Amino acid sequence: MITDILAPVVPVFDCKETVRRLWDYLDRELAPADMAAIDSHLAQCDKCPQHFAFERQFLAAVKAARSQHTAPDALRARVRATLGLAPSKKDDGAHG
Ligand SMILES: [Zn+2]
Repeated sequence: MITDILAPVVPVFDCKETVRRLWDYLDRELAPADMAAIDSHLAQCDKCPQHFAFERQFLAAVKAARSQHTAPDALRARVRATLGLAPSKKDDGAHG
């Protein structure tokens, strides 16, 4: 059997294999070959893209919610000023 050694070895995933790697794929934690395998599976499968679309939206929503909870430093400084606290550089509250 002759294989083209110049082409990257892209495994072929079925639906089960693809969905199993869903989170790693979305986190970009897979090897390039696995990413390519999932991309090509998604391109020709009509079931899996639905899973991925949902999880992708979920991750985006989590990310958006997380950024909204980050108090900007300016706000934090204003709260400190209002409370009459000096802006302290170390904030590691030593335990007595
Ligand atoms: Zn599939």
